Amino acid sequence: MPEGPQARRMANIITKFCNKDICQISHLSNKTTWDIDIPAKITSVCVHGKNIFIHLNNGKIIYNHMLMWGWWFPTLEPKTKKRLNTAFLFADGTSLGYFGGGIIKPIDQKQLFEIKDKLGPDIIDSPNAEIAFKKLSKSNLAVGPGLLEQSLIAGVGNIYKNEALFVAKINPTQIANTLTSNQYQKLFNFLQPQMKADIYRSGKINTISKQAAKNGHYNFVYKRLGQNCLFCNSKIQRIYQGSSKQRSTYFCPLCQRL
Ligand SMILES: [Zn+2]
Repeated sequence: MPEGPQARRMANIITKFCNKDICQISHLSNKTTWDIDIPAKITSVCVHGKNIFIHLNNGKIIYNHMLMWGWWFPTLEPKTKKRLNTAFLFADGTSLGYFGGGIIKPIDQKQLFEIKDKLGPDIIDSPNAEIAFKKLSKSNLAVGPGLLEQSLIAGVGNIYKNEALFVAKINPTQIANTLTSNQYQKLFNFLQPQMKADIYRSGKINTISKQAAKNGHYNFVYKRLGQNCLFCNSKIQRIYQGSSKQRSTYFCPLCQRL
């Protein structure tokens, strides 16, 4: 599931194709044609939260949000069951493929500002907890769904949300504007180093130790419903949060009691 670090890992793949001549872009997932003059070059790739912005030398921007399914590969024949969505062919014979669903489309500068305007601070870029959580700390959402609300803080997805709340010993139903600055600091102290390191890690998001992963434990609470808490042996519980009650929240009722 792509979260902020995975978007940055993808951006690092795309960045390797900067300054090469694109000779063809084939968008295969729907019948819309892209208004992009070819030849063109990628000049830079930027990320904010889970959003990727690919800047071209002709002023166009390709916007990508992988949602739950998208992935980039530096080849059109990767080992994946995902279907090719958009293919970039370069004059030097190399190719770059975007596979799976999600959003990928050309946008202009105005649309770029409109998308960025709706995003909160990016947790990975924020220099301190106060800046990272400045919008969330004023929200009357429960902190569980609040951490996923990209207009309040950008980049955090469901796995990081669950794990950060467990490590910080915060109940996911606590209202965001009642958290202390110390609690926000604990969330930041877990999230930022973990997410920065995960930019360079592949495979499952592992929030525990390498040793724990060898024993089959990748996370403290995420997807561990009914299993024992690794600290207190209580059974991990699951609730559904958010306006549509679609996001699963796993927590330890003892370590994270209200
Ligand atoms: Zn516990």
